[in-house]
Amino acid sequence: MSASDIYLDYAAGAPLRAAARDAYLAADVPGNPSAVHRPGRRARETVEAARERIALALGAQPAEVLLTGGGTEADGIAVQGLYRARQFDGTGGDDAVARPFVLVSAVEHHAVLENARLTGGQVVQIPVGPDGVADLDFVAAHLAAHGGQTALISLMAANNETGAIQPVHQVIELARGAGVPVHCDAVQWVGKAPFRFAEWGLAAATVSSHKLGGPVGVGVLVVGRRTGLRPVIGGGGQERGVRSGTVDARGAAGLAAVVGPVAVPDGAGRLEAMLAPLDALVAAHPSLSYNTPMADGAHVAGLRNLAVAGARGEALVYLLDQAGLAVSTGSACTAGLPQPSHVLLAMGQTEEQARSAIRVSLGHASVPSDVTALVEALPAAIEAAQRAETVRTERAAGGWGQP
Ligand code: PLP
Repeated sequence: MSASDIYLDYAAGAPLRAAARDAYLAADVPGNPSAVHRPGRRARETVEAARERIALALGAQPAEVLLTGGGTEADGIAVQGLYRARQFDGTGGDDAVARPFVLVSAVEHHAVLENARLTGGQVVQIPVGPDGVADLDFVAAHLAAHGGQTALISLMAANNETGAIQPVHQVIELARGAGVPVHCDAVQWVGKAPFRFAEWGLAAATVSSHKLGGPVGVGVLVVGRRTGLRPVIGGGGQERGVRSGTVDARGAAGLAAVVGPVAVPDGAGRLEAMLAPLDALVAAHPSLSYNTPMADGAHVAGLRNLAVAGARGEALVYLLDQAGLAVSTGSACTAGLPQPSHVLLAMGQTEEQARSAIRVSLGHASVPSDVTALVEALPAAIEAAQRAETVRTERAAGGWGQP
């Protein structure tokens, strides 16, 4: 990132916080935390101190905090591990029980959707409304019909593309009645709003360090002490036997240094206030509207997904990048080709609409002038992207260059 870049893509990854960098470097001891010699024991102490801080910040017990190699890995262990455990009767033996259903919202991150598919179970997607919020009636109806055959529910706390807050508490309540464990991908929630694992009554939850300004490649899977989870990858049996591999003591220390302060959402109001000029532009500009639900309490702080009529999201990302502003489309690429957002498609948008979005997300180092610079650059970028889209569609329709 050059000094002139204005960074507006925190939902993809936040810049490293000084506290995380300092803690990471201070924890730079040579020992493997599983080794019995003194350096190993020091590394173990670093890991356990980090685990305690992380547990405190997330409202969990230290023994419930498993360190992973990131949010994707935590989601995979949760979804596949819960599924495997739930194919047995829960007494610790190998008596099989048929629980083929995996209930996930249609707007989950691919880390959940792909791992749900990889279970080999029967994946049922919870539909969302035009606001991107999961349909509770569908969950209730599914559990009434198939509660006894449902292995797990995975519902994110807040969506990474639109910021829409999901009805996690209500789903936990419904699932409790049916005896179904709930995993929550809280990657876009933690740091923006309070998260209390035990109070919420979750079976498992995912957190990712680099979204909070901690190091990349570090994550947490919080797993309740009574939650059954079978390993997905075998190895040395670290982290309660479900996440084998050397524990990253430095990474854990880096995450612990930021998860505490950011778990208190003191910056949420600040982030929303900074977005006021963008909200005003969207209200006034004929080509702009929000895909983010804007009712009070409907979205996480600091994130806006903009629908830009008649333009492609990736063209806007490119044009804004030329102007020194880093935003994203929010949706994934496959083999380098931008795909229409599965989240916006699930919200009932057309493929064209689902390709015409950009996501702006703020975080710990954002300042008001970042947003004013975006607001100044956006109208010209929109015009240029709309012109490019007109040329592209005319070419595609065969209007140009034909003999
Ligand atoms: N879940 C959500 C909602 C995310 O936004 C992301 C990252 O984009 C992930 C999971 C994956 O986390 P990580 O990048 O740590 O693998």
